[in-house]
Amino acid sequence: MTAPGPVLAPTTESARLRSVPSRAAVDVPAAEHAVALLLRALGKDPAAVHLAETPRRVAGAFAELLTGPPLELTTFPNEGYDELVIATDIPVQSLCEHHLLPFTGVAHIGYLPGDRILGLSKLARVLDLFARDLQVQERLTQQVADWLETNLAPRGVGVVIEAEHLCMSLRGVRARGARTTTSALHGLLREDARSRQEFFALSGMRGRTP
Ligand SMILES: [Zn+2]
Repeated sequence: MTAPGPVLAPTTESARLRSVPSRAAVDVPAAEHAVALLLRALGKDPAAVHLAETPRRVAGAFAELLTGPPLELTTFPNEGYDELVIATDIPVQSLCEHHLLPFTGVAHIGYLPGDRILGLSKLARVLDLFARDLQVQERLTQQVADWLETNLAPRGVGVVIEAEHLCMSLRGVRARGARTTTSALHGLLREDARSRQEFFALSGMRGRTP
């Protein structure tokens, strides 16, 4: 796992931010071969009529889940807005790197603008950039916060992810419905109690302290 590549620092009117994941592309034929081997190891016949297309489908599914388009965002000058900007309940889905099983849930992403603002829907794109990877929820949360901190230079940024992990609900403890909550805060959202409380209240996490 590597972080997406560097991004230009926006200075002009509207500026483009571009970030390309630098991780290796999925080798689909090799993945198909590996899935056929896995089926055999599981005691199944990969040539059986209902399994014949399974390696292709599984490899395709993983390729789709792990590959996304490059991130291209436009930022705009901030014309004096100094309150919290927050997008809540953004759907999130990723793959747990320990079990290769999905985890799904919602993210709440907020920032206190500095000199630049970002389209609200674009926060979901930043999330998606990092979610299309083998992940742990803690790292995903941190990566989104770090990316916004580095590229948008806000006065504060906060990310909360609440997710259910299939590796926890379908196997192991079988804690169906249990949600894991992670948060990452930078700048004023970390340092200033009032800003932090406002962020957690708006993201539905009233009373929570990180
Ligand atoms: Zn897992």
